[in-house]
Amino acid sequence: MSRQVQAPCGVFELNCAYQNYAWGKVGSSSEVAKLLKSGNASVSIEEQTPYAELWMGTHPSAPSTIPMADGQSLADWVQGNPDGLGKPVRERFGGALPFLFKVLSVQKSLSIQAHPSKAHAEELHKRDPTNYRDPNHKPEMAIALTNFTGLCGFRPIQEIVAFVDNISQLQTVIGADKTAGLMSAGSSDNPDVVREAIAEAFGALMRQNKDILDREFPGDVGGFSVFFLNVIHLKKGEAIFLEANLPHAYLSGDCMECMACSDNVVRAGLTPKFIDTETLLQMLNYTGKPAEDNKYQPSVFKENGVTIRRFTPPIADFSVTEILVDAAQTSFNLQTMDSASIIICIAGSGTLNGGIKKYSDVVVVGVGRMVGDGGVVCSDDVVGAGDVGVVIAGDVVGVVIAGDMGGVISVGSAGDMVGAGGVVGAGGIVWT
Ligand SMILES: [Zn+2]
Repeated sequence: MSRQVQAPCGVFELNCAYQNYAWGKVGSSSEVAKLLKSGNASVSIEEQTPYAELWMGTHPSAPSTIPMADGQSLADWVQGNPDGLGKPVRERFGGALPFLFKVLSVQKSLSIQAHPSKAHAEELHKRDPTNYRDPNHKPEMAIALTNFTGLCGFRPIQEIVAFVDNISQLQTVIGADKTAGLMSAGSSDNPDVVREAIAEAFGALMRQNKDILDREFPGDVGGFSVFFLNVIHLKKGEAIFLEANLPHAYLSGDCMECMACSDNVVRAGLTPKFIDTETLLQMLNYTGKPAEDNKYQPSVFKENGVTIRRFTPPIADFSVTEILVDAAQTSFNLQTMDSASIIICIAGSGTLNGGIKKYSDVVVVGVGRMVGDGGVVCSDDVVGAGDVGVVIAGDVVGVVIAGDMGGVISVGSAGDMVGAGGVVGAGGIVWT
């Protein structure tokens, strides 16, 4: 049975799980560790341990829990209170929270990977449920919190040709035929010919015998892919959106990440995890373009000392909003959406006040008689870095954040409900 969480302003606190994957930044150098510690003083950070990911959401692998409901999982709460998601989200996503919000701290490169489309994910899950555990797609948005480096999408063919031309080991590994094909496609105007040549040459690399790769690229197995994929550098606040079939690998740095609630990854190389090279090679988008073209440009709104940057990718499952409140600003009115949101304060501090003006029917559940202040981030609770809360969907929830906040706030939530054929928004909010 699901307990009711009755929050007076539709906001309640979450405790979030984290992952100690080996590629994570170690100890307090990790943004994940810093946020964990700041948000929950009882957590002690071990300086030798990697803190790779903080998970905010309902995914069964690391579910968030609600302290004010005696540690009930957010998933159970959502199941018992589906109206708290907001009507459009509830209807479109079958009563489940459609997104997973994360903080990542990357020290060592992650595997080269891509995520399947919805239709492809369904097919993979049916064929191989052990390795593809759910039938959902997994579009991702990564927004840098610190200088962030990754591989993303194929390079323009001219760049690939220049590498192959100058690096004889690369020619050896690809083979004479594919090298010649790549060279001739380099001057072709036909995009299909160009894509095919890149696909053939990249396929030859990825299928290459590990011994040969070790010989040609000692100590750097998998590193050859940088000759084919863009190396992308994100400064704080810059973002990439990883749509289906786009090859990518995170190399270093900290970021916010929002994705559809799924774990479907098709991997090749740079990983001890399950590798499915043939599936990856078949699904990839081989259209090359410059690294800068892969950056996602948010819409920016400025008003009364507050800067709002909205990242709304062309999918229904999520959007992310960053809110930057000037240090001089004494209050800010946070308006919720048609979707439940998850909020994380990344930096600064402030106070949340009740200040409810009106609730639509979608937020009736979870609104009302909450008493006490056990972890509820409203009623003058102070919020600071690392605090994570859930905002229940509603049309006007006048949550006022007031006080000493200097810095940025980022908000992530599900897509907006933008008229007919529009998208359902559900996401998270991030203060930075
Ligand atoms: Zn990914």
